[in-house]
Amino acid sequence: MRISNYLKPKSLDEAYTELISHGNNAVIGGGAYLKLGNRKINKAIDPYDLNLNYIKEQDNFVEIGAMTTLREIEESKALKNNFGGLISKVSSIIMGVQLRNVATIGGTIGGRYGFSDLLTALIALDTKVFLYNRGEISLEDFIALPQIPRDIITKVIINKKNCKTSFKDLRNTATDFSIVNVAVCNTNNNFKIVIGARPGVAKATCKSMEIIKDLHVPEERINNLCDSVVDEFSFGSDLRGSKEYRKEVAKVLVKRAVMEVL
Ligand SMILES: Cc1cc2nc3c(=O)[nH]c(=O)nc-3n(C[C@H](O)[C@H](O)[C@H](O)COP(=O)(O)OP(=O)(O)OC[C@H]3O[C@@H](n4cnc5c(N)ncnc54)[C@H](O)[C@@H]3O)c2cc1C
Repeated sequence: MRISNYLKPKSLDEAYTELISHGNNAVIGGGAYLKLGNRKINKAIDPYDLNLNYIKEQDNFVEIGAMTTLREIEESKALKNNFGGLISKVSSIIMGVQLRNVATIGGTIGGRYGFSDLLTALIALDTKVFLYNRGEISLEDFIALPQIPRDIITKVIINKKNCKTSFKDLRNTATDFSIVNVAVCNTNNNFKIVIGARPGVAKATCKSMEIIKDLHVPEERINNLCDSVVDEFSFGSDLRGSKEYRKEVAKVLVKRAVMEVL
């Protein structure tokens, strides 16, 4: 990454106006991923002074500011005590503490990285993203947009629900990217199943797991249902695994996660 100019705006309006004023201006979160590339940035816009670093628990939802680091998410009591601790647990397995002290939730969403573990978990919980100019959008819709919008992510909101959650992943070493990851959220026997690192970015199943709602179906039936869910997804090959391997791994991870939340 090469930065020609650096700006710490004093308001979101200033940040947004600067962002859209030049095609090569960019918002930086922790800069952890940006700095690995050779992108030339005309003006780096650092939201550090915009008070976007917070986790607030309200009666019905938890609100996380875009500049909140993964380490703060990992350690947050509000996030440990809600959503079966899913968000906090998934953050805790990402790389090491040094990276988590720097990487932000805004950068995680803004990058839409295919390897992301956190995006898989956030989609399973129906997370809403707030953009300064565009306003509210579901994370799923944000990810599906053909292009990453030129906008500033200000916060995410996750509505509280009485749910059971599970996250499963397979990686070659603890600090490597996932070969496949899976998050499942069971809210009153409504299942949301998300598969990430396919290696494409995380996606939820469209098929509702109707029959799994019946807790008495035999395990074999659940296995077949989970297989058919995985069939809905497309997988790809890269240096971590072939698409065939990823699909077989995904079947196992989905079954384990579903059994856990049952
Ligand atoms: C070596 C390495 C290994 C990693 N391993 C994993 C892993 O195993 N699992 C996992 O889930 N994640 C992993 N990550 C990703 C990490 O968790 C973050 O997602 C990533 O670092 C981006 O966060 P950041 O704050 O550093 O963003 P930056 O690098 O600063 O920015 C990333 C992108 O988001 C944009 N952006 C940042 N903030 C905003 C904002 N507020 N509004 C709009 N756009 C914004 C930037 O313009 C840029 O395009 C890894 C990262 C690194 C560097």
